[in-house]
Amino acid sequence: MNSSDRTRTREGGLRRAISLIALTWLALLAFCLAPASALGLIRDAEIEETLDRISNPVFRAAALNPAIVRVYIVNDPEMNAFVAGGQNIFVHAGMLMSLETVDQLRAVIAHESGHIAGGHLARRNEALRGVRGAAVIGMLGAAAATLAGSPEAGIALASSSQQAINRQLLSHNRAEEAAADRMGLRYLAMSGSDPDAMLEVLRDFKSRDFQRSLSANRYATTHPIWSDRLSLIAEEAQKLPEGRAPDPELVYWHARMVAKLEGFLRPPRETLRRYPETVDTEPEMLARAVALHRLPDPDSAIAAVDTLIAMRPDDPYYLELKGQFLLESGRAEAAAEAYRTAVEAAPLEPQILGGLGRALLNMNTEAANREAAEKLGISARYDKANAGVLRDLALAEARLGNEGAAALATAERFVLMGDFQDAARNAHRAAQLLPKGSPGWQRAEDVITMTRRTRE
Ligand SMILES: [Zn+2]
Repeated sequence: MNSSDRTRTREGGLRRAISLIALTWLALLAFCLAPASALGLIRDAEIEETLDRISNPVFRAAALNPAIVRVYIVNDPEMNAFVAGGQNIFVHAGMLMSLETVDQLRAVIAHESGHIAGGHLARRNEALRGVRGAAVIGMLGAAAATLAGSPEAGIALASSSQQAINRQLLSHNRAEEAAADRMGLRYLAMSGSDPDAMLEVLRDFKSRDFQRSLSANRYATTHPIWSDRLSLIAEEAQKLPEGRAPDPELVYWHARMVAKLEGFLRPPRETLRRYPETVDTEPEMLARAVALHRLPDPDSAIAAVDTLIAMRPDDPYYLELKGQFLLESGRAEAAAEAYRTAVEAAPLEPQILGGLGRALLNMNTEAANREAAEKLGISARYDKANAGVLRDLALAEARLGNEGAAALATAERFVLMGDFQDAARNAHRAAQLLPKGSPGWQRAEDVITMTRRTRE
């Protein structure tokens, strides 16, 4: 069983990070998140692929480049979504699990795309300008945890008071919200989705907000006036075409995404009650398989995932899940075999390669360590935002006696965790050990330059 990569951010580390960041907004954000926990992100290849498929038509409608805009999943039960660090959309897992249709999720993505296209965060995000890709996560004090290898992924992260402060910091003014709603509706229509879905989402928000205010929760006071937004959206949506029914393929993947999140994030006994043994749809069976794994009841979990694999023998994500179940129940060699089949089905999926690497690392033979370093190296090249892979890569390289490569992987992991001082220290060590001018040396130099820039 592997421990989570989510940072239980140490207060000292966070203070150091804060001192590196000049602008008040980000410092405040980091401060508000300390010391209990950082913003936890969830990584999962299948869910990310589904989010891309659902979001990309909206991004194209908004004239945003789908290759640049990135959707991150925040490990938090709240209904929330926000934009930070330029073109990064953060959607809370609670939101993903609550939205019932593809178009409702598109409505949320479309609204956030409206904020990006409208440049609403340009001023507040100045500190993040010029800092690219994975480093944004570090700058936000967030750490990514894969659903694979984080058995405690379901733990609620921040206290509600911290969330309330976050929300204020990340909230927009009313004019910006109205503009994002209006632009979002247009993107929905242009992507062939149903503009009324935005109305449905807002109504859901409103009823939840009402319930909160009944329980005298202080959030209520920080929220915008729903009725204004609702009537504006209803009026605008009327003028737009109704949209097509979503692609059945997308509806299928959306249901799988919700089921997988529920399996991993809700208490397993609750999931098993909701999806009893008699369930027969694939998403329900998936939720059940994950819940069985987390009980833990490894034999039943593996039997359940085998049933799913029999239904879709080439599905890389079911094969990956089997690899995870086996690995986390201590069967590294069988896990490596399952991951290998998954890699055949999806040869360059970084997170599946990462799983194979982790299984090999757990076998811990000379040959397995060598292959682990190779697979993890490829994974890290294609995906710069996976702290777990970087940690495993550092271990594999260290076992092979490659201290320079190990230091580089560690430096890149610290960048991801927002610990720029330790990142710089390891990058200097890597630059000393690696052959000058080699690709690894160059990346170490890049980390040194990046950490220097965040200090200025
Ligand atoms: Zn907004």
